[in-house]
Amino acid sequence: MTKTNSTNEINLKTEEGNKIIVAIDGPSGTGKSTTARILAEKLGFLYIDSGAMYRAITYELISKNVKPNDIKKIIELTQNAKMSFEGEDFFLNGKNVTKEIRSLDVTNKVSNVSAIKELRKILVNKQREFAKKNDIVMDGRDIGTVVFPNADFKFYMICDLKTRAARRRQDFMEHGMKIAVEKIQMELSKRDKIDSTRKESPLKKAKDAIEVDTTNMIIEEQVNLLYRKIKGLD
Ligand code: C5P
Repeated sequence: MTKTNSTNEINLKTEEGNKIIVAIDGPSGTGKSTTARILAEKLGFLYIDSGAMYRAITYELISKNVKPNDIKKIIELTQNAKMSFEGEDFFLNGKNVTKEIRSLDVTNKVSNVSAIKELRKILVNKQREFAKKNDIVMDGRDIGTVVFPNADFKFYMICDLKTRAARRRQDFMEHGMKIAVEKIQMELSKRDKIDSTRKESPLKKAKDAIEVDTTNMIIEEQVNLLYRKIKGLD
């Protein structure tokens, strides 16, 4: 439950056991993760990148040569996967796989893997576990619709495709990779299409989510917009 103090700023302290959940969804490359990470830091909440969890399983399936139709093996690997977030690092079964899960191979395959119903069920349960002990900011595709339909705050970020591709290209350049903007644009559109048309938990805006168009915004503005809404300042 939220309480209002004399300055009208919402005091986010809750009753014991009642955790605050901020859900951020939207297509790939809209700035969700960066915004969510900084926002969580500002609020003192735990940040959970649900995409990293889908990427980690995809990475595991590639590494272990598991066929996409071997559902039994996929379920087993997913159930046994121990995942943890430590600062900006992501660990899978004790191994730091932060870089590996961002590879082009994983990026190209993750949307098909994420469409598997059985796998989603297990990961959604793991995502809910994180919110039992912590106030959280979680970003993804189905956080406000499926994982936490009763989240305290829901945001849906959108952005023009060209701008998303240009930003991604800049990120790659900063990591020493030169990739044509057209190629990035194609990869983003392909992922958006699979993510929004799949049968299981497709990407869509929750009815009660606040839509934020980041096309003409810088990260600081995005973070402030969400922060002010959460704190009741706007
Ligand atoms: O957020 P990110 O781009 O890292 O997510 C990678 C992929 O993981 C998405 O394209 C989508 O296929 C999948 N995903 C999902 N549900 C989520 C988060 C990510 O299906 N909640």
